Amino acid sequence: MPKETAARERRVALVPDVVRRLRAAEHEVIVEAGAGLAAGATDEQYVAAGASLGDPWAAEVVAKVAPPSEAELVKLRSGTILVGFLNPLGDPDGLAAIAATGATALAMERIPRISRAQSMDALSSQATVSGYRAVLIASTELERFFPMFMTAAGTVPPAQVLVLGAGVAGLQAIATARRLGAVVTGFDIRSAVKEQIQSLGARFFEVEGLGDAEAEGGYARELTPEEQQIQRDALSVQMGKSDVIVTTALVPGRPAPKLIPASAVELMKPGSVIVDLAAEAGGNCELTRPGETYTTDGGVKIVGPLNLPSEMAEHASALYARNILSLIELGFDFEDEVVKGACVVREGKVV
Ligand code: NAD
Repeated sequence: MPKETAARERRVALVPDVVRRLRAAEHEVIVEAGAGLAAGATDEQYVAAGASLGDPWAAEVVAKVAPPSEAELVKLRSGTILVGFLNPLGDPDGLAAIAATGATALAMERIPRISRAQSMDALSSQATVSGYRAVLIASTELERFFPMFMTAAGTVPPAQVLVLGAGVAGLQAIATARRLGAVVTGFDIRSAVKEQIQSLGARFFEVEGLGDAEAEGGYARELTPEEQQIQRDALSVQMGKSDVIVTTALVPGRPAPKLIPASAVELMKPGSVIVDLAAEAGGNCELTRPGETYTTDGGVKIVGPLNLPSEMAEHASALYARNILSLIELGFDFEDEVVKGACVVREGKVV
């Protein structure tokens, strides 16, 4: 396992607990010195778990978080199996560069979302971290309470939180906002999530005239321009009433849908907060600046975080490492549906 070199990347692909499990299964584990420090794991802990410190690129399987940089590609050997988030839909050139080394690569984003592969589902494990963290960010940026307070100095109403997109991150955001005592409304274009939203104690926002937009694999399809307009119109009143909006809406392989137009931000009260988890894919809010937090002229704070899981590097790495462990335990049988699904480069050829 190499030390991650990408900007803002503090996670690692293996944690000491997972090294111990790999050793128990008689795998050798080589860790680059200092690799886990940013995620709270010291070299001593890795060595105590049975790893040796050395050149991680000499291993048969190289486990990473971020896609390899140019400097890392030089170290990637022909015949090696590389595992990590490789952004196969967003960066075809990156895949071609991996292929040119003669290596084989498995993209964690491509693990099929079937029951048998749940323990390897790194998109879900990291989305859980993002959804949780997004609400904590909102709660500190908001200069209002989340819960209702009845005190001798008066009564404070609870914050109104709107969560747009109720996949893995959105549901976690709803649950976290509820735990903090906010009144939460959730919305998604897949009607299957209505019950999930309600079971967390939130209200499901119904948009009249908008049918179910579930597509293959449980993901959403892109809405038509007419449907997008119906959605924006219906939601704008609710947006205006919200103290906090957390957006998580994504459509695989497409830019993030623009759910919050500038006109809706203008309707929000000064001091309200938008945390846009889709910032990396361009943002769900028209005014999001990816990687920045700023306040609009109307006093609304917009946060466009990049790589949120990295801000909770210790637990994000612990979950990710368990995903990697499950994949390694499966063995690299390229006829297996899961391995086949994740394989994006096979022996030097883009699949
Ligand atoms: P995602 O990150 O691709 O998208 C986040 C959410 O945004 C989704 O719920 C999507 O419906 C929603 N969305 C897209 N466009 C929208 C719009 N215009 N307005 C409002 N919401 C919009 O999705 P995800 O969280 O990775 O997962 C989505 C679904 O995949 C899950 O809810 C589940 O059905 C399925 N899944 C299955 C497994 C499994 O079986 N192992 C694991 C994880 C997820």
